[in-house]
Amino acid sequence: MELQFAPEHLAFRDEVRAFLAAELPQHLRDAGRASPSPFMEVEQALEWQRILGKRGWAAYNWPQHAGGTGWSPVQRYLFEKECALADAPAVPIHGLKLIGPIIAHFGTPEQRARFLPPIVDGTELWCQGYSEPGSGSDLASLSTRAVRDGNQYRITGSKIWTSMAQFADWMFCLVRTDPSVKPQAGITFLLVPMKQPGITIRPIIGMAGDYELNQVFLDDAVCDVDCRLGEEGEGWAIAKFLLENERGGSCTAPRLIADLAHLAAEAAALPCGRGSLAEEPEFARKLARACLEAEALEMTELRILAELEAGRNPGPQTSLVKLVSANLRQRIDELALEAHGHDALQLATQRPLFGNTAPEPVGAKAAQMAMPCYLNNRAYTIFGGTNEVQKTIIARTVLGL
Ligand SMILES: Cc1cc2nc3c(=O)[nH]c(=O)nc-3n(C[C@H](O)[C@H](O)[C@H](O)COP(=O)(O)OP(=O)(O)OC[C@H]3O[C@@H](n4cnc5c(N)ncnc54)[C@H](O)[C@@H]3O)c2cc1C
Repeated sequence: MELQFAPEHLAFRDEVRAFLAAELPQHLRDAGRASPSPFMEVEQALEWQRILGKRGWAAYNWPQHAGGTGWSPVQRYLFEKECALADAPAVPIHGLKLIGPIIAHFGTPEQRARFLPPIVDGTELWCQGYSEPGSGSDLASLSTRAVRDGNQYRITGSKIWTSMAQFADWMFCLVRTDPSVKPQAGITFLLVPMKQPGITIRPIIGMAGDYELNQVFLDDAVCDVDCRLGEEGEGWAIAKFLLENERGGSCTAPRLIADLAHLAAEAAALPCGRGSLAEEPEFARKLARACLEAEALEMTELRILAELEAGRNPGPQTSLVKLVSANLRQRIDELALEAHGHDALQLATQRPLFGNTAPEPVGAKAAQMAMPCYLNNRAYTIFGGTNEVQKTIIARTVLGL
């Protein structure tokens, strides 16, 4: 298996590096560093998307025919890695990374023409309506009901943990159109407009005080039949394609490696005994272990990449990456709490934590970030498939249990 990058890949990496050095402004790097959640503040996310858009790189995981870059998995990995190392903020993921490639693949020409351009230019934002109260890991049990009424569907039910729904113009949504068949076969994929009387959004405030999550109530909400992706009953297959697309080559290790480098620098500046915290043996041991695990994780991600480049399906390794990266994310947050000690006990709930209006930190800026990151990142072992679900997949497919 070849894990070296080819010369053309290294040239591409240098091109991305030069672009970031020239075009990623300091205030967006500061925002990227001081965002205590997987979701960026919308204003900064869109500003970064516009900069990428000028270079034609906003839809970097879409095929070229749909207005994307058409990059290979290796190019996408290198791009995400360089962005992570440069502290670039996240782009609005629901449109650009999740539903965009799905509409490109499953949409009719009319749907592609209607929905894709506003995602690329950032004029329409999306949210994901999958989970329901009582249907998360067991998603096929979802009960939000859609009934055909002429050229429309009438939808009744409720979605929960809907990230960023308060900003969304559209929700891609799994609904039950046929309760009489086996659960997976009765699910349909709809694109539902959010700004309508049948939709109510109830905020859910997270432990750190962030407002990202919502419960969305659909009470006779409507959606044109033209906004159905695929046929009735094909929703499950489309949802699975989305999950596989999400897993088709991840780039989690570089962000963890970048955060560990920041933590090492902070530890070197924190006094401890006669030296710094970085020299304290127990802390140094934990940090070194986390660094080694992050490097091992990157090797696994590169192995997946090699499989994808060779046109093969990476299989259950993706569950290993999800499990290990989520656990490591939380361990790094615990180390940051340990490093900043009492100063890490502050919990600023005002947002954003960057820019002129940010609250003054007690001690270092990194100390102010430690607790909100720790609290918000508890979610890593839940969203995108919980740890227990990943372990079940590994137990079945790798260990044959
Ligand atoms: C921050 C955040 C953002 C999210 N954003 C979105 C979003 O935008 N859109 C959306 O649709 N959803 C979103 N989710 C929801 C997420 O996908 C679900 O929380 C997740 O799928 C788990 O489902 P659940 O919360 O219903 O927990 P449950 O499935 O009820 O699980 C509860 C516990 O039981 C365990 N468990 C469940 N089934 C099994 C099993 N078979 N074997 C062993 N253990 C099991 C789980 O591991 C977990 O520990 C988000 C969640 C979070 C935390």
